Amino acid sequence: MLWFPGPRSVTGEDVAELQVHGSRAVTATLIATLSRMGLRLAEPGEFTRRAFLNRKFDLVQAEAIADLVAAETDAQRRQALRQLDGELGALYRGWSTRLLRTLAHLEAIIDFPDEDLPPEIEAQIAVEAAALVAEIDDHLADNRRGERLRDGIAVAIVGPPNAGKSSLLNALARREAAITSPIAGTTRDVIDVAVDLAGYPVILADTAGLHESADEIEREGLRRALARAEDAALRLYVFDARRPEDAAGAAAWPGRDTLLVANKTDLVGNARLPAGALPASALTGEGLPELVAALVQRISADYDASAALITRARHRQALEEALAALRRAGDATLPELRAEDLRLAWRSLGRITGAVDVEDLLDVIFADFCIGK
Ligand code: GDP
Repeated sequence: MLWFPGPRSVTGEDVAELQVHGSRAVTATLIATLSRMGLRLAEPGEFTRRAFLNRKFDLVQAEAIADLVAAETDAQRRQALRQLDGELGALYRGWSTRLLRTLAHLEAIIDFPDEDLPPEIEAQIAVEAAALVAEIDDHLADNRRGERLRDGIAVAIVGPPNAGKSSLLNALARREAAITSPIAGTTRDVIDVAVDLAGYPVILADTAGLHESADEIEREGLRRALARAEDAALRLYVFDARRPEDAAGAAAWPGRDTLLVANKTDLVGNARLPAGALPASALTGEGLPELVAALVQRISADYDASAALITRARHRQALEEALAALRRAGDATLPELRAEDLRLAWRSLGRITGAVDVEDLLDVIFADFCIGK
């Protein structure tokens, strides 16, 4: 038995750790004995919650623990670990601290007009608020990469009917990737398979073939296929290598996020393919390793970010609120209104890490200016 006296324990409380043999009989007897002593099993997340309440880490790190537990691929594990390291929380706390200081200075101007405050302070407040707007804006313009990495990077397989999209999906899922969860899609028209591609969580979506149709149900399938292709992080545009003219359909999604795949190369020999098309055969498996390599290269170029990424919609929403409030503060004419918007921005940021405390504001005011000494 190991005894960890608080506060230097995992939760900050006194913690006793029993190391026993793991058989059911031993653990069951131990738990029964402990319950008779008035102890109970922890609720889900209770240790993490207590640790958070005892300020062992912030909310962002608590979420990282949940992500680490749920991580299915190496890239997800790495992202969660990075967040657990405190990198993301430190970024948000850094902004929060700067915002608090700015707010404190503004409050000082409002509340203590008679004190001898440095004259350049008002200009400094505007400069700092503008800098924060630029930094938060930049952080938000990340194409949702962190959230996509957490939830799975959507790769839509699109192209004309019978090009071999379903066959390619099956071939990729079976031969080139480990399926991490069974078919998750619900609609008949879009089939999702979550796979682990070289450590990246990818959700391959097979879509209805792109073609003109008079049939209403087919048109709905087509509409969904197009919407899915639009939302996807990347697209594989698959066409029959015997019909190179079909490759032109990929022009609907210009740019490097669409990979052109000439399927059924087993049927064409050494025919010339459109420029940039990756030759593949879902039937024989030829070209698939190269296709996966190209896909992984595209993904790693985008997702191995050097800066910490937003990982949750909750964080994004709070950041957007903070940004909107900061922008309003910039436009405000009265110092009192500007202060109110800065305070709202600061609260939004504080909600991300779970640290919003009005006492902090007072501390900064008095520490920086020694007012009311
Ligand atoms: P989808 O409509 O684009 O999903 O196409 P399917 O995957 O249903 O394939 C259409 C037809 O082409 C089926 O008969 C497949 O067996 C065939 N097919 C798919 N891929 C290949 C391939 O690489 N080589 C050959 N020879 N046939 C293929």
